[in-house]
Amino acid sequence: MKQVYLDYSATTPVKKEVLDQMIPYYTEHFGNPSSLYSIGLESKEAVNKAKEQVASLINADPGEIYFTAGGTESDNWVIFGVADALKNKGNHIITTQIEHHAMLHSCEHLEKHGYEITYLPVNEEGFVSPEDLEKAITDKTILVSVMLVNNEIGTVQPIKELAAVAKKHGVLFHTDAVQGLGNVPIDVKDMGVDFVSLSSHKIYGPKGEGGLYMRKGVKISNFVFGGAQEKGKRAGTENLPGIVGFGAAAELAKKNFDEHVKHCSSLRDYLVEQILEKIPDTYYNGPKDSSKRHPGNANITFEYIEGESILLLLDQFGISVSTGSACSSKSLKPSHVLSAIGIPVTKIHGSVRLTVGDFTTKEDIDYVVEKLELIVGRLREISSVNVEKGW
Ligand code: PMP
Repeated sequence: MKQVYLDYSATTPVKKEVLDQMIPYYTEHFGNPSSLYSIGLESKEAVNKAKEQVASLINADPGEIYFTAGGTESDNWVIFGVADALKNKGNHIITTQIEHHAMLHSCEHLEKHGYEITYLPVNEEGFVSPEDLEKAITDKTILVSVMLVNNEIGTVQPIKELAAVAKKHGVLFHTDAVQGLGNVPIDVKDMGVDFVSLSSHKIYGPKGEGGLYMRKGVKISNFVFGGAQEKGKRAGTENLPGIVGFGAAAELAKKNFDEHVKHCSSLRDYLVEQILEKIPDTYYNGPKDSSKRHPGNANITFEYIEGESILLLLDQFGISVSTGSACSSKSLKPSHVLSAIGIPVTKIHGSVRLTVGDFTTKEDIDYVVEKLELIVGRLREISSVNVEKGW
């Protein structure tokens, strides 16, 4: 059966060029980067090269990159590390209502321990306003965290403006750039940010590997305690093949950036146009201006039916999509992101996220639209909501 993967924001396949560079680090070059003999030093050099590759994608210095086990760990490190390091300065953190659960659940934990969290609202396209941020800052604020790109609706936040507001008040600024890396330009110096969370598996690198950009001289406590790896800030023997893979994926993402963005955004625009034209009662959620949206992201509401039913029936045709974010796909709780942009619960339940990537083709899109028309038509015929509406 034909297989069409339209869930590149959940994860991406490891590219062959990336895997080829990783494999020798499982076998021949297996030395511990902390060992002082030659094969250890070779591994250390591979880690340093990967730092250069990741740093180069975001215009950082290699010494400002720390490898972690992924975006979740990086988010946790920033929030708990800053809360701990600056507890004598204040107990107030500002974030947004549409962050990933790696951030929101960490904030909820801090609330149980006496911290106060402000969750900034967003407008109907998911944008945070710098004015709202400025009003929320108090003399107890120790951290502002706003994601660069939203994982459900693709909104690209005005991070440079938001970071400038935090800086004006002497507050540290973090951005979760897991969905932004390789998809929107990132220049940490120009953006004026202190911390950036990164993940490898969204850019055709291996899973379980990520990074944290930490501006030189910034104050944060350690999060993983143990050995002296990562300048003693993040202990544990390095995931050498993972790090090499992340570095290789970052280098490739930099090289292919323009082509990748053009390919994804043109297929995404075609997908959205076809769905809206061919299937009635459908709505495109999130920013309408493509330049302020993740190039591969489409989020569509199909009125009167359940997104989960669409997902399961598409799966029968070999098509993979998601409802809300993959991390919460096992719960039927309405998406907190779609709620925050003001979509009513009944419409949230009919929403599906489709994300295209480097291996998506126009034929794939035509196949998906054809099957969607069929599935949505059938589901609407039998939908109880139709009965209630007197259809
Ligand atoms: N933040 C965002 C915005 C994400 O989309 C994800 C992955 N779904 C994460 C953090 C977590 O990253 P990881 O899977 O590498 O832990």
